[in-house]
Amino acid sequence: MAIALDPAIVEWLKLFNCSSCEELYSKLEKIQTEHKPVEGEHVPFSLHDIKHLSVSDSERGGIILCDIGIYWSADKAAELIKDLRQNPQKESFENPVVYQCSSKAEYFGRTTLISDVDLPGSKYNPVGHGYYSDLFFHMFFGNYSDFIEHIKKLSEQDLKKTLNTREGYPQFSPLFAPIIGRRMIHIERMSWLTEQNKRDIRMMYHGSNENKQVKILEKLLKLGADPNAHDIIGNTPLYHAAYFRYDDAEKIVSTLLRYGANPNHSIQYGSILRLFCNFIATLPEYWNIIDLLLSYNAKPRDYEEAMFIRYLMETKYPLEYAVKLREVCTKKKNECERTECEVSTMKKCGACSFVVYCTPACQKLDWKFHKPTCKKKRVEKASENSAWISYFDVRNMNSFLLSSIFGILFEIFMQEL
Ligand SMILES: [Zn+2]
Ligand SMILES: [Zn+2]
Repeated sequence: MAIALDPAIVEWLKLFNCSSCEELYSKLEKIQTEHKPVEGEHVPFSLHDIKHLSVSDSERGGIILCDIGIYWSADKAAELIKDLRQNPQKESFENPVVYQCSSKAEYFGRTTLISDVDLPGSKYNPVGHGYYSDLFFHMFFGNYSDFIEHIKKLSEQDLKKTLNTREGYPQFSPLFAPIIGRRMIHIERMSWLTEQNKRDIRMMYHGSNENKQVKILEKLLKLGADPNAHDIIGNTPLYHAAYFRYDDAEKIVSTLLRYGANPNHSIQYGSILRLFCNFIATLPEYWNIIDLLLSYNAKPRDYEEAMFIRYLMETKYPLEYAVKLREVCTKKKNECERTECEVSTMKKCGACSFVVYCTPACQKLDWKFHKPTCKKKRVEKASENSAWISYFDVRNMNSFLLSSIFGILFEIFMQEL
């Protein structure tokens, strides 16, 4: 009897034009041998991993999918770089048509590829291609003086045209230049560059870059650059800010948001909120970005993603984030409040009546995450009640007191469980 293949494997088979797992494995092996991955770039996988991958094992699936994306781009990079050399990219002046990826792995592969095929500092093409304009390179290398010098000479009409110019294979608008170009500040950290690569890149600007990418970004926005312009796979500057999470990531994100970047811009797979939650999970120094995104009403794009974010928060982030993110990642109506439980129920939390639990066991497991909200809801309810009481009927005071006392007792009871 034929065993049904995991949907993720079917997706990979399609992506690599393979008819069997064995064929897929030998192709991946070949890419793995040809592309020497950078340390920390991926977790090695094997056919064994692929065959035993369960779709419900999202964390592990994520790692393997990410690997496949990297291998996919390694495989495509050489042919694309060759093609771009023969057919240099031309400028255009509007949002490009979005290239629709056939799978998540292809999307992640293209995301890696996009800034790595034709700009300096990339993994597959360290010195990049020369078809970008001087202005783009001024911004990319953070040379504020050259940038201002260039801008000053433009008429109002030419400035407008310049702000809408798209360049390179990814069809980047000017805003992308300083965001991606921040990697030039940290050229020493780039383990994939040889000493010769680093010398070649420095030569492009005689090693005297001003590294003022953030200042350039702000100036571009002030001049009217569109913060929601997207590249050929539909990603915006805010998206790339997550990929190049250097020291000033928070500054970049807050500047973009302040000038109207849409934190709910829809991308092919996932949302901006999910991307950041995932990317900075192990980097506490960037957690403020999550607060920042929430303050601009960032939301998960669907229920599945909301549950993924809840799970991530409960397993990788401090409690306060798990509680905070629940406000935008709510469960379905009448579904047990514990993130991993999908049981439908009408049994309300006895203390706040705001959420439901299928069993006391689920409630107990979830108490840590629900407790702060439970308390908040009780306070809200009590103050609502007290307003009514003082206005209408003092005799109801007893029931109000009873509900407050019940709340306190409930909390003690849950703590002792
Ligand atoms: Zn439950
Ligand atoms: Zn409650």
